[in-house]
Amino acid sequence: MKFASRLVSFDPAPGDRFRPISTPIYQTATFEQQHADSFGEYDYSRSGNPTRSVLEKHLATLENGTRGFCFSSGMAAIRTVTGLLRTGDEILADSDLYGGTCRLFSKVIDRNGIIVHYVDARAPEQCEQQITPRTKLVFVESPTNPLLHVIDLRRMAAIAHAHGALLCVDNSTMSPYLQNPLDLGADIVLHSATKFLCGHHDVTAGVIIVKDEALAGQIYFLQNAEGSALGPFDCFLLLRGIKTLKLRLDCQQRNALAIARFLANRKEIKQVYYPGLNEDSGYELQRFQAHGAGSVLSFTTGSVEVSKAIAEHAKFFHITVSFGSVNSSISMPGTMSHASVPPELQAERRLPPDLVRISVGIEDEEDLIGDLDQAIHLAISSQSSQT
Ligand SMILES: *Cc1c(COP(=O)(O)O)cnc(C)c1O
Repeated sequence: MKFASRLVSFDPAPGDRFRPISTPIYQTATFEQQHADSFGEYDYSRSGNPTRSVLEKHLATLENGTRGFCFSSGMAAIRTVTGLLRTGDEILADSDLYGGTCRLFSKVIDRNGIIVHYVDARAPEQCEQQITPRTKLVFVESPTNPLLHVIDLRRMAAIAHAHGALLCVDNSTMSPYLQNPLDLGADIVLHSATKFLCGHHDVTAGVIIVKDEALAGQIYFLQNAEGSALGPFDCFLLLRGIKTLKLRLDCQQRNALAIARFLANRKEIKQVYYPGLNEDSGYELQRFQAHGAGSVLSFTTGSVEVSKAIAEHAKFFHITVSFGSVNSSISMPGTMSHASVPPELQAERRLPPDLVRISVGIEDEEDLIGDLDQAIHLAISSQSSQT
């Protein structure tokens, strides 16, 4: 079955005698048991809920894994993965990580004595140098957010496994439609389902998918023990959003490429970061390991003021953090989504202060390009009138 069919072909309500076509919301915290000394399939929604089970199973299938787990947010999913580690263990992470992940790594898990080393994972030799016998987890995103670096995931899996570590890939910028890290050798794939999987900016959720049964057992243990699972109504919304993942992303990706080309041809724009452009340094690798470049891109203008003015003058692109929605959005990662990166790491990462990130939605291509065109024009003319 092709991906478009797989998105909508699943049993929405296993065992339900009314055969609904949409998954019912089992809005219940607990389930009555027949016997006082044994449990049925469900007993308590923290431990398992039928709406969540349908979603978790569906996501596991879409990522070519065996088990899926849904959490109250992407961060809760990432926190759960770090729960696999113990005091003294180390994480090797790519330095262009989501801001919230950096904050978790530097200010939360350090309390448990877990140490994180950062490398530029585009240079595998750096990873080879920094990995130690204490490294238990290698953690990367690809393409990264917000600089759209493309990381060689097969290579990262080989390096991690040669040193007895697990590879975890945050696949939020791609979704299971465009990239399947488990097929490339990753042990754990996770998503901020708040982004493309939901697609409508109305749910905060996270997902972990694995292949290995023992690993699945450990993740399930943490999900239940920590009480971080996603609620039934949010599971329902996510199930609904996922059905149109391919339709949305095909359109968003087409728009994104057109916009990237438009920006690359504008003299006011200094650099465009988008692995869908032939001239991008990640282009070949992206084509090799993914089925598309996605719909998140970023660019610089050479001036923080001009960048800020473009964001403020754009009308279709709303100033919001987050990405992956049917609506286009625009943000300045340095002061918004990545402001939670500790200052010493910000300097090390060399995140350009004039960086603008856009997430391209499903609006009409001409409207979006026209909007950016007028925003650039206004931004430049307001700059020159000030000087
Ligand atoms: C948004 C995001 C997260 C965090 O997810 P939440 O759902 O906001 O908790 C993690 N990783 C990446 C790449 C993200 O973009």
